[in-house]
Amino acid sequence: MRILTRGLPRGATVAIVALLVILAGCRSTSGPSTASEFLLGTIISVAVHDDLRDEAAIEAVFGRVAEIEARMSTSVEDYDTTELLEVNRAAGAGAVEVSADTFAVLEAALHYSRITDGAFDVTIWPLVTLWGIGTGRDAVPSPERLEVARAMVDHTRLSLDPATRGVGLATAGMGVDVGAIAKGYAADEAERILRAAGVEKALLDFGGNILVIGTRPDDSPWRIGVQRPDAERTQFIGIIHAVDQTVVTSGPYERFFEQDGVRYHHILDPATGYPAQSGLEQVTIIAGRSMDADALSTSVFIMGFERGLELVESLEAVEAIFVTADREVFLSSGVGERFTLTDESYRIVQ
Ligand code: AMP
Ligand code: MG
Repeated sequence: MRILTRGLPRGATVAIVALLVILAGCRSTSGPSTASEFLLGTIISVAVHDDLRDEAAIEAVFGRVAEIEARMSTSVEDYDTTELLEVNRAAGAGAVEVSADTFAVLEAALHYSRITDGAFDVTIWPLVTLWGIGTGRDAVPSPERLEVARAMVDHTRLSLDPATRGVGLATAGMGVDVGAIAKGYAADEAERILRAAGVEKALLDFGGNILVIGTRPDDSPWRIGVQRPDAERTQFIGIIHAVDQTVVTSGPYERFFEQDGVRYHHILDPATGYPAQSGLEQVTIIAGRSMDADALSTSVFIMGFERGLELVESLEAVEAIFVTADREVFLSSGVGERFTLTDESYRIVQ
């Protein structure tokens, strides 16, 4: 699916999955060049806002994202085979050589698995596939099957050999899943392509993962609305002002199903095998690299406020906005003026 539009009406508000980009007040003479496509299981939108209208660069972005998807998808509904499906099928039987792309994403995912003590776990696939959230065959698994799958989740049994780009999983039944990080990698690649083409002002929306290049056309910071976790996509609790940054949100409302009145969402806690319940309703990460922000928003959502804050504060140039079910908003130490709360039913707790 490709939607190509030119010259978005002035003052239009673009609503997206988890974050809103507020374009009101954008003064652009003829509007941006924008294009959207369904990739990585979501809508990917690219809007180039400077005078340089490089349609070829926008095309190249979609080509690149499609390539990343074809390498790293673990969806048997969409692909007969991908590099990661091969890795998972070879689990217990030896290493599979993968592309530099896939290797880089697995290395980063393993890094986050380690620094989060396995709250983020790149070998989450047995649990993801058992729950099947978002596939239409979702149901609460039996405790026995959950226990079997949970025992298969262990990033210390994933081996990555940089010399051969070989990826091996120790036991049959294990599997890797990069759903929590691949969109970020793809957004970083898109940024690289656009900058190489000379683009200086652009807004990328990868299913709610936002990456901005430069400023808005009028040289002011981009305004990114943080979606209210409990409401429509068009309602937001506050605004992040961003220049040359990426903003990524994780929340239980993004993908879920309900059974017997209980909501089960797609961010799984490897410690329990169940959807993570850390007391947080939403986590937003502001960072320089989208792959980091993507991995961290998922990680911190699982780890909860205290452990999550400690992790964020230990990292350079990474900030976080935490929202609890009690409508309390906590900010990491460097968020400062970048965030403005606009919904008075929420309150910032210092
Ligand atoms: P995100 O939307 O970026 O927070 O990532 C959610 C996706 O990450 C899920 O749909 C799974 O594919 C994957 N995932 C779920 N739980 C975990 C986990 N504990 N560690 C790593 N990836 C996970
Ligand atoms: Mg993520």
